[in-house]
Amino acid sequence: MAKKYLIETFGCQMNVHDSERMAGLLEQAGFEATDEAADADVVVINTCSVRERAEEKLYTRLGELRIMASEQGHDPVVAIAGCVAQQEGEAIFKRSAGVADVVIGTQAIRRLPMLVEQAARPDADRLSLIDLNPYDDVTFPLGVTRRADPVKAYVTIIEGCNEFCSFCVVPYTRGHERMRPKADILAEVREAADSGHPEVQLLGQIVNHYEAPEDPACDFTGLLEAVHEVPGIERIRFASPHPRHFTRRFLEAMRALPKICRHLHLPVQSGSTRVLESMRRRYTRESYLDLVDRIRESLPDVALSTDMIVGFPGETERAFGETLSLVEHVRYHSMFSFKYSPRPNTLADKRLPDGVPEDEKTRRIVALQAAQRAIQSELNAALVGTQVDVLVDAASRRRDTEVSGRTSQNVVVNMPGPAAWIGRTITVAVERAGAHSVWGQAGRYAD
Ligand code: SF4
Repeated sequence: MAKKYLIETFGCQMNVHDSERMAGLLEQAGFEATDEAADADVVVINTCSVRERAEEKLYTRLGELRIMASEQGHDPVVAIAGCVAQQEGEAIFKRSAGVADVVIGTQAIRRLPMLVEQAARPDADRLSLIDLNPYDDVTFPLGVTRRADPVKAYVTIIEGCNEFCSFCVVPYTRGHERMRPKADILAEVREAADSGHPEVQLLGQIVNHYEAPEDPACDFTGLLEAVHEVPGIERIRFASPHPRHFTRRFLEAMRALPKICRHLHLPVQSGSTRVLESMRRRYTRESYLDLVDRIRESLPDVALSTDMIVGFPGETERAFGETLSLVEHVRYHSMFSFKYSPRPNTLADKRLPDGVPEDEKTRRIVALQAAQRAIQSELNAALVGTQVDVLVDAASRRRDTEVSGRTSQNVVVNMPGPAAWIGRTITVAVERAGAHSVWGQAGRYAD
């Protein structure tokens, strides 16, 4: 009987995609997927350390696996991957009290099957079951990735980041910025289209910094133009562009190329120029708002989303007020917002005291999220009575007669319909709206 694996993923789309790659590698080595740790011969926990809470989840989960081993006698090989693995390394063995068997860094996942096999041997030596090497190789064998999403295919274009924003752990956990060859990217996009994925999402910490290593004349816009030519791809998304790297040519291409979705995730992090400076974001409130104006002038139907941190060191009440006023001004369609927590090794952790009290951070995030929810509700309510094109991507977990999908602007639309619609673009008449999604009836393209 084939051995079984379970991968549990925390964190960003980059981690989700790394899990898809690790699943493919384990299947190549003869493992089969399972949803239950109690059934698994190997459990991989793909961790995130961008927020403190995400890191705590690893140790909570390891505690649960320890209880499973002592109460049920089932003791699978446990491999820790992702940013916490890269950051904590060997210390995870000690802190997990013997539950973790393998620690594998973000750039070493191709060695996972080998380390898992070694760990299963009775004479395995723990110290040889750790690989944190920051390999520079950004290639990945074509056809191995086991894509979890039937509609959207993630394709990495850049690994790592050189920006060193003062709050961010990514340059330490994912290494310096490395561009993937354009030929590799296009081969993977073709493979995704051939395996029935109508949507591709290009991934990188700063996608619009892309420059093809084999063709320096090809920047991110050139790459988008090439991806646009791939037959079978109907929608192109990407995450995330950096506000500092927008060009006129990019905005013109976005307007001219219909497969590029009308959605831009434009991380701002704060509405205060002074806070942005101590975050080392290298733009100001004014230059960000100027960019928003240029984007909206060029793409009037674009939806914007963002990331925001509240309670960063030195964020006064006035600075937080500037964040609120920026949100009211830009009117984002969605937002990921977080309370600041110092991350190990970062410049903010070393140099900026975490001075905003926890209850004040909580008060600020509650106020920010309430403001954002009101804006989202209004933007979604404006869709009621209109028709929108929706690429159906999921069946409802609660009702088997309902499906959902997304508009080009990334608005989630729910509708009655069969799971057979997944992968099809349906025109939907929107009838009602909430803060996070809208509901409607399928129109003219439905069966
Ligand atoms: Fe982190 Fe800044 Fe790089 Fe984004 S741009 S990954 S926030 S260092």
